[in-house]
Amino acid sequence: MHLNAASLVERDLRTVWHPCSQMKDYEATPPIPIRSGSGVWLEDHQGRRYLDAISSWWVNLFGHCHPAIGAAVAEQLVTLEQVIFAGFTHEPGIVLAERLTRLAPPGLTRCFYADNGSAAVEVALKMSFHYWRNLGFDRKTRFVTLENSYHGETLGALAVGDVPLYRDTYRPLLMDVVTVPSPDCFSREPGESWAECSERRFAEIDRLLAESADTICAVIVEPLVQCAGGMRMYHPIYLERLRAACDRYGVHLIADEIAVGFGRTGTLFACEQAGITPDFLCLSKGLTGGYLPLAAVLTGEAVYSAFYDDYVTLKAFLHSHSYTGNPLACRAALATLDLFEASDVIGSNRELAALIARQCEPFADHPHIAEVRQTGMIAAIELVQDKVRRVPYPWQERRGLRVHRAALEQGVLLRPLGPVVYFMPPYVITPEEIKRMTEAARVAIDSATAD
Ligand SMILES: *Cc1c(COP(=O)(O)O)cnc(C)c1O
Repeated sequence: MHLNAASLVERDLRTVWHPCSQMKDYEATPPIPIRSGSGVWLEDHQGRRYLDAISSWWVNLFGHCHPAIGAAVAEQLVTLEQVIFAGFTHEPGIVLAERLTRLAPPGLTRCFYADNGSAAVEVALKMSFHYWRNLGFDRKTRFVTLENSYHGETLGALAVGDVPLYRDTYRPLLMDVVTVPSPDCFSREPGESWAECSERRFAEIDRLLAESADTICAVIVEPLVQCAGGMRMYHPIYLERLRAACDRYGVHLIADEIAVGFGRTGTLFACEQAGITPDFLCLSKGLTGGYLPLAAVLTGEAVYSAFYDDYVTLKAFLHSHSYTGNPLACRAALATLDLFEASDVIGSNRELAALIARQCEPFADHPHIAEVRQTGMIAAIELVQDKVRRVPYPWQERRGLRVHRAALEQGVLLRPLGPVVYFMPPYVITPEEIKRMTEAARVAIDSATAD
């Protein structure tokens, strides 16, 4: 069957409802049918190629159609595709749990699977609440979240998020949470360092925990980079202080590394840079190298043992998803971890990150760029109308969308978050491709800020 691009688009728009989209926008910019992928490249039905500078929504680590991951999944596909994970188990699920708990910060010895990032966040929230309940702390019912954070789209995950665009409409449906200032360093005072800014913000959550810990189950954070909130970044000192405060006041710490895990920030897990172990570590996105939906929530013996008892005590964690621990997804994850072991990925990423930094340096002088910031393999460029006073563009002007369209014309897929243009490429990107990516961004930003 051969379908040309035009008829595919027409059929798409007749039936498909796309995520995170105003469908009317597709009248002006129709969705692009992609027929194949290879390395950092996506190819459409007309043979045009696009450099995937955003890792297809932050999931892809080692490029599209990586032969080793594909071969592992293909082998699993003809061995065992899926089996109920309650009362049954399988080797890929067992080995993956062993390897994840070995790689994660020390003390995270237990692995609970789910099938997407939002579900992992729901699991962590429910487990934390339920832990305190099993121990008789019935007053602990609330969660603390940081301003501008993002933890997913299901109602529990949305409730602990703080991006108004996704959250405001559903506010009447969401549980009450306590929101504290973000350690985000974009708004630091003149002359203030990242560390000073993040420490100053820590004082506020410290005060809150001191006053209210008896009603609080957990604090949930995106370690080091608030990705969906515009790639806002902060200093690891915040996590270090927060870990100590959570211990001091008897509150769990949930680290949502769904976006930042697996090397994005320059270490395998972002928490490593603060030398901390969270009570819950949520993983998804890059976990399978971007091949299949899978999530894992890692926790330790203290949490696990609070649920471990005779059935009749009704302390068990009865949460489940149909595809919990899907073997195909687990095999993709194992093949991905093999790639981390086969070479010094973190080390070679350091060189790529340094090149991205060098390529981004000239952006700092641009009249409509307020800041260029970077943490490991994530670099972000903040567009503003007025550079000196940092006045943002009116959101209705959709400058980021203009950047997206102009970059596509040059064969590069960028998908700015509002006015924040960012790069989060797969780790197989070459130095030449990095130059191409940043050069396309330069042209696109110039055209999008020309008037
Ligand atoms: C993407 C993301 C989620 C949600 O994951 P989904 O698989 O899209 O549900 C949660 N937290 C963070 C930090 C994310 O970036």
